[in-house]
Amino acid sequence: MYPPPFDYYAPSNLNEALELLSKYGEEAKVLAGGQSLIIAMKLRIVSPKYIIDVNNIPNLSYVNESDGYLRIGALTRYSDLEFSDLIKTKYPLLHEAVKHLADPIVRNWGTVGGNVCYNHPGNNLPAVMLAYNAEFVATSLSGSRVIKARDFFLGPFQTALRPDEILTEVRIPIPQPRNGGHYIKLERRVGDFAIVSTAVNLSLDYDGTVKEAGIAIGGAANNPVKVTKAEELLKGNKINDSLIKQVGKIVTEEITPAEEPFGPPGEYKKAMAGVLTVRAIKYSLRRVLGGG
Ligand SMILES: Cc1cc2nc3c(=O)[nH]c(=O)nc-3n(C[C@H](O)[C@H](O)[C@H](O)COP(=O)(O)OP(=O)(O)OC[C@H]3O[C@@H](n4cnc5c(N)ncnc54)[C@H](O)[C@@H]3O)c2cc1C
Repeated sequence: MYPPPFDYYAPSNLNEALELLSKYGEEAKVLAGGQSLIIAMKLRIVSPKYIIDVNNIPNLSYVNESDGYLRIGALTRYSDLEFSDLIKTKYPLLHEAVKHLADPIVRNWGTVGGNVCYNHPGNNLPAVMLAYNAEFVATSLSGSRVIKARDFFLGPFQTALRPDEILTEVRIPIPQPRNGGHYIKLERRVGDFAIVSTAVNLSLDYDGTVKEAGIAIGGAANNPVKVTKAEELLKGNKINDSLIKQVGKIVTEEITPAEEPFGPPGEYKKAMAGVLTVRAIKYSLRRVLGGG
């Protein structure tokens, strides 16, 4: 199926792209990896009159640590993170999430920015960014603003980005020492979208007290869920099996599943969110203690 006709622009710098967005507003769409947008256009779910391809804009693809943050340019491909030693060793939660995303072709094209901007309920990265307390840098002709992950994801396929803004950077606070994380995705077949996914990020003191806890669930509901009640229960407490069990119970209670006509029942997704989170906390702990 072909999409309806559109005008195509491939600006060579950010300012040009922002001018086009400011001019065309909601009639325009940014094209990054194209792995969701092109499909949505072919299915006529969206029919933008103007496409602004950002692939020729320099300096939108990078991965580095500076000023307390891991900084990822919005145009960075999943495969850049999958094969980055920095991500593999220091950000295992993010590494697992990109490693278990679709197939190698999608990973070579799809971008970090596109993944969070699209905010498909089954996408891997929204939950990961909530667990990391990431921040998003949105740029328009009037400058840049920073949006915290918890304020970014507004609903299925909806974010806090304005139509005149381009997401330019995703940044994750550099983890404290004794940090570990884990991502688990329940999928029908390898490469499918998540039925339920869980993202856990933990930092512990030397006596086993939880200093930092990030927990988020993807897939199960219409929007990724940051389970703050479970995070609060962990923070400041010494970690043990009974505490982890309580966290699993809270996660199950906090999820309001999206009922799909041909999908698994909501009660199953709720239960699995709890089970997977318990498992992910245990894996994260193993990483903190150097065994993961
Ligand atoms: C077969 C297949 C399987 C898949 N499986 C998974 C999976 O298991 N998990 C998963 O997470 N994803 C999966 N995906 C989706 C994939 O990750 C997409 O790449 C992602 O949803 C969008 O990223 P993109 O770079 O391709 O963005 P595009 O498709 O180019 O854009 C998506 C949306 O984001 C907007 N956008 C993109 N970049 C910016 C920006 N910098 N600023 C503002 N707006 C922007 C676009 O305007 C558009 O609305 C799959 C896709 C396919 C084709």
